[in-house]
Amino acid sequence: MFANPLAPEWLEAPAEANSLASTVWSRNAARSESGELTIAGVSASELVASFGTPLYVVDEADAVARATEIKGAFDTEFARIGSSVKVYYAGKAFLCTEVARWMTAVGLNIDVASAGEMAVALAAGVDASRLGFHGNNKSLSEIDRAVRAGIGPIVIDSVVEIGRVAEAAARHGRTQRVRLRINSGVHASTHEYLATAREDQKFGVPLTEAEAIVAQIRSHSSLEFVGIHSHIGSQIFDTAGFAEAARRLLELHARLSVAAPVPELNLGGGFGIAYTSADQALPVAELAASLANIVEAECARLEIPVPVIAIEPGRSIIGPSTTTLYTAGTIKDVLVDGEAVRKYVSVDGGMSDNLRTALYAADYSARLANRVSDAAPELVRIAGKHCEAGDIVVRAEYLPGDVEPGDIVAVPATGAYGWAMSNNYNYLARPPVVAVRDGKARIIVRGETENDLLSRDAGITPSGDSE
Ligand SMILES: *Cc1c(COP(=O)(O)O)cnc(C)c1O
Repeated sequence: MFANPLAPEWLEAPAEANSLASTVWSRNAARSESGELTIAGVSASELVASFGTPLYVVDEADAVARATEIKGAFDTEFARIGSSVKVYYAGKAFLCTEVARWMTAVGLNIDVASAGEMAVALAAGVDASRLGFHGNNKSLSEIDRAVRAGIGPIVIDSVVEIGRVAEAAARHGRTQRVRLRINSGVHASTHEYLATAREDQKFGVPLTEAEAIVAQIRSHSSLEFVGIHSHIGSQIFDTAGFAEAARRLLELHARLSVAAPVPELNLGGGFGIAYTSADQALPVAELAASLANIVEAECARLEIPVPVIAIEPGRSIIGPSTTTLYTAGTIKDVLVDGEAVRKYVSVDGGMSDNLRTALYAADYSARLANRVSDAAPELVRIAGKHCEAGDIVVRAEYLPGDVEPGDIVAVPATGAYGWAMSNNYNYLARPPVVAVRDGKARIIVRGETENDLLSRDAGITPSGDSE
């Protein structure tokens, strides 16, 4: 087959461009006998006929299974070393009441990072004590609401927050559990990690100042210090970064344990997933075993008991569960540098429903969803419909060369930071989210209507209103 020189090195020209890589697609994605993409038994064309495009399709059983497996693997591995684990689902990846219920039903807690996220979790009926609260700039009113609601641990991110949380707790007659976020100096980028004295970013307090800051926290009778926290980054594929962060944190944890016991250590989230068939995510059992081994060895070396470990995965639970369906509109062959052709397939969404490609140059993959084709694979770029050259959904992929307007294009692994970062650029309406399970589809977040888009413009009288 023809390998297009415009293709990135990691993308191999395939013999056919119909297969669904099991590492990338949600578990219940398959091809029907006629060749259509089906998810949990519902075909792409049925979904599109009922709900239109763009459409986020969540494979419910896949999301629940990943949550269950992460919790199970960490429970097993940390029980083996005489400890236990609290798993917090990082709600910022994708939160709605339905997802909050799926997560808590299988024993996870939920992390929120704003009053809005907290409101969603509470509206789902999640007990406030099962919520962790993050953020480098929580407002006074957010802190007040959280404390009043009886929220679980608040992750203090700066010295100034200590007094703010302590006062809110005193005001509401509560003892507020808090963690302290540490800037461990370890930064994990996708395939490597860097360890410095202090990473140049906004989150947390420096390792070197942590002891004095914890002493300040402990001086407030309205605060209970639960332990330190660190989140070294996202979409991490190996455990070297976690290992280095765990070593640094456990040394601090041991020093802090001299004055008074420190019950927990929070290692954050950031476990990577496969967006394309070139990505190899670490199996969750291996990840859990490797983290448990690191923690066990370090605690033995420091002669301290193994603390209760908290982790905060978001992407690795919800990311692979979701597929976005689009309709192909216009198609152009663009001759690049007079040498090679890049086929631009434009779809009916883009950076408003998936910002990650424009924001991080993230890579995704894609397949035709309404049919298979034995046409020779051609290199395509899947672009959105926004007025921005960087409005790309999939930077490079091979699709059957006979892709045509009207085809349904499916982009897998869009569950994390897809809907969550969606926006109304160019006044596009945010698409609905549909959960599929056992051959049935139901809306879990409705799509926006044109009236939704106009409703906040003070100069527009809502249609149908007689005023
Ligand atoms: C974003 C974030 C997470 C989750 O990261 P994922 O890559 O989705 O697993 C966990 N903890 C903190 C503090 C975060 O900011």
